[in-house]
Amino acid sequence: MVDVTSKVRKVAYTGRNLQSINSLSFSRRSFLAKTSCFGTFYALAKLIPVPALAAELASDSRVSQTPIVDKGFASVRKIGSGLYATISDPSKGITTICNGGFLAGKDGALMIEGFATPAGAAFQMDALRMVSQVPVKGALDTHYHFDHSMGNSFYGANGVPLWAHATTAKRMVDNYSPMQGADKEAVLGPLEKRVRDAKSDIERQHAQGDLNAVTGLFQIANATVLGLPNHPIDPAKLPMSIDLGGLTAVIESYPGHSGTDIVARVPDQNIVYTGDLLFSGWYPVCFDEKATISGWRDTLKKFAVFDKDTLFVPGHGQICGQEGIAALREVFDDIAGQAEKMYKAGVPAEEAQHRYLVPDKFKNFPIYAWGFTIGPAITKLYAEWQGK
Ligand SMILES: [Zn+2]
Repeated sequence: MVDVTSKVRKVAYTGRNLQSINSLSFSRRSFLAKTSCFGTFYALAKLIPVPALAAELASDSRVSQTPIVDKGFASVRKIGSGLYATISDPSKGITTICNGGFLAGKDGALMIEGFATPAGAAFQMDALRMVSQVPVKGALDTHYHFDHSMGNSFYGANGVPLWAHATTAKRMVDNYSPMQGADKEAVLGPLEKRVRDAKSDIERQHAQGDLNAVTGLFQIANATVLGLPNHPIDPAKLPMSIDLGGLTAVIESYPGHSGTDIVARVPDQNIVYTGDLLFSGWYPVCFDEKATISGWRDTLKKFAVFDKDTLFVPGHGQICGQEGIAALREVFDDIAGQAEKMYKAGVPAEEAQHRYLVPDKFKNFPIYAWGFTIGPAITKLYAEWQGK
């Protein structure tokens, strides 16, 4: 079992080994014929309902009580002057999966996120057009992950420049194009084997969750024409101010979740679109090869000293205030605390990554899949302590 998880993750996500897989027999057509599209992913997503707006936020004068549109899979709500948040509820459908939003000034608008499908990006554009007819200056992918970028082609088809961290296009190509047309068994086989070979019920559950997540990704990647950002943002040149006409957004980059993370801030109104640097009321997704636990915790420390009235639009979960940052910091503290005890007791990382116990206070926090959240958080912490 040594390091099978990380090997599988590498196969599924870095795509490095998929060139050879691509040359194997082509059976995607029969796979799609046998599998109801997105079925497995939907089964996973159904476990993740989005909570209602917290009482403090429902009474925040910036936040509108009623969404301007609610399609179940996502709703769009006014959260400031010219500012809107798109909040997804994957339990009701996977058109968008992640959160986003838009900023509409007098002269132009900035869209946030490409979402999981072009229909998701179109949904958000329709919402913008309900409140403003200004030209769209750009659409920003907060990072390269599939649920934030697979709908990009909608923007491309509509002549909207696609903004993202300078390495986002390459990361999308490296990670997702090898899956397109790849043999399903070659991609999922190692994960299925992990389920079969699991040494305990816990390991089997973790492996099954990972299999569901990768199955969903494989299906979405194969149903998508990738749209690559054509407006690369050099992180060395940030922060960068964008004047939308009476509304100024500041684009910044922070380490932590993916190595391509960009946030959009509106300092005048204390509102921040964080992308996946904030999972609100969720366990954080840490699997990315460029994710850094210490870097992410430092980033959250910086967010924690933003104005106390700051409103955060997270990458996943409900809109929140500083309490959302505090909760995620506590989750990281708890994972690190349990991992450190195991590290000091000599428990190997491969075992420690399965042994974490979810405390009562976080038992309602969705875990996207163990091998994408808690597992890699622990192995990355071990690696940091070992000075790797
Ligand atoms: Zn992400």
